[in-house]
Amino acid sequence: MAIDPNFEETRERVAEHEGHDVWGPVEEPEELGIHGTHVAVDFDICLADGACLEDCPVDVFEWVDSPGHPESERKADPNNESACIDCMLCVDVCPVDAIDVDPSRENRIGPSPDFDDAD
Ligand code: SF4
Repeated sequence: MAIDPNFEETRERVAEHEGHDVWGPVEEPEELGIHGTHVAVDFDICLADGACLEDCPVDVFEWVDSPGHPESERKADPNNESACIDCMLCVDVCPVDAIDVDPSRENRIGPSPDFDDAD
């Protein structure tokens, strides 16, 4: 199953993590949602292949640990998504289609809401 490219319509922003939005549902540790908006990674699909980290020319991704998640113990977190130059390499190399890049998405959905429990 690939990331839903229309997740901004089918999911809600439930938190902020390292400066990017998290789109639920989130039920840790088994369900982690989608991280990022411009560069979105479905953590519940990501199996930590690492090709996106290796190939991204502007180092958008960093590993974040995800102990107890059924797919992998770490995830490619788009915590530098503002640096993205939309080359689409990460989308092409991801073996499980966990990444969707859309530079216009942030403008369509507006600014992030304030989250009480931001971490
Ligand atoms: S589209 Fe290119 S620049 Fe943007 S995150 Fe993916 S690999 Fe990096």
